[in-house]
Amino acid sequence: MAEKKDFYEVLGVSKTATDEEIKKAYRRLAKKYHPDANPDNKKEAEAKFKEINEAYETLSDKQKRAMYDQFGASGPGAGSGFGGGNGYYSYSTSGFDGFDIDLDDIVSSIFGGGRRRSSKASYNGPSKGADLRHDIEITFEESFLGVRKQINISREDTCDICHGSGAKPGTSPEKCPVCGGTGQIRQVQTTFLGQMQTMRTCTTCGGTGKVIKEVCEKCRGKGKIRKQAKINVSIPAGIDDNQTVVLKGEGAPGTNGGPKGDLYIVVHIKHHPVYIRKNNDVLCDIPVTVTQATLGAELDIPMVDGTNEKFKIPEGTQTGAKFKIKQKGFTTINGSYKGDFVFNVIVQVPKRLTKEQRDLFEKLAITMNEQPPVRKKGIFG
Ligand SMILES: [Zn+2]
Ligand SMILES: [Zn+2]
Repeated sequence: MAEKKDFYEVLGVSKTATDEEIKKAYRRLAKKYHPDANPDNKKEAEAKFKEINEAYETLSDKQKRAMYDQFGASGPGAGSGFGGGNGYYSYSTSGFDGFDIDLDDIVSSIFGGGRRRSSKASYNGPSKGADLRHDIEITFEESFLGVRKQINISREDTCDICHGSGAKPGTSPEKCPVCGGTGQIRQVQTTFLGQMQTMRTCTTCGGTGKVIKEVCEKCRGKGKIRKQAKINVSIPAGIDDNQTVVLKGEGAPGTNGGPKGDLYIVVHIKHHPVYIRKNNDVLCDIPVTVTQATLGAELDIPMVDGTNEKFKIPEGTQTGAKFKIKQKGFTTINGSYKGDFVFNVIVQVPKRLTKEQRDLFEKLAITMNEQPPVRKKGIFG
């Protein structure tokens, strides 16, 4: 996986920057590196512009920023056994990201003079496809160990007949003759302040810059069709209930050559009959016999991963006593910390005894200055 620059470094802000500071930095940089503002070194500017947008897209979104802070750009599992194309929260996109309303402001300030344009419909740029959500349920053990799952989803995808152009095969969309393919019409007005240049959306092509004469029959000119997709997703060890795995570029296709949206996989964890998760600790009850609790014992404690841990409880252990096996709980997703395994002793009083056991208990009772229990036999027999 190619090394990614730190998003905070890209925007030149600190890790504790406020939303406002991030927005400001983004606007300043996006303006500076907008490809249209750098006709002499368009390629470099484009790369830089893309980088800035990618960083802003993540850092401006509370949820994405939190995940980035937690997992980094490539996330846990990158390059590990899970590997594969669907790395956890991988940031490998192609094309432009983040053509949103903010960009309209930038575009209008680059074109200069014009009044502030009102909506993003007026910008004929590539735009990112929609993000999708899919919910998945996994077992407690799977959340503990990590798991690879295959999911089936129905999503829009690029039409494979016209390859997204929307035009009948053999034909192609033509440049809009009215706007010359830009999707916008420049108007120069003379006002008392001098010449003012304004932009408006081309009504002939609706801002797309293209007109389709013969539409593709399969997608009816939309360029997209609904398809079933099988997607492999690596769920990292340590994932908690309602946490999300993001698969970059697995969402709906973009328009005008924009990148695909992302697929958010929301993970739900099934209730376990024995174990409970609390933060990164695993909690459970361990039953012991009266003699084990009284005399002390070495127990085999079943861990979530299926192994057993030997653990000595001391003599005189009471029911409800808590013991901890360190670092046998959940690993945090970034692998930096391990929780503990905490168990609660439940002393089980036997419900049925053999004759020999009963005799022993009675002898024990006498040594403890208790009356032996009256047996039914003793009264009537
Ligand atoms: Zn098509
Ligand atoms: Zn047009």
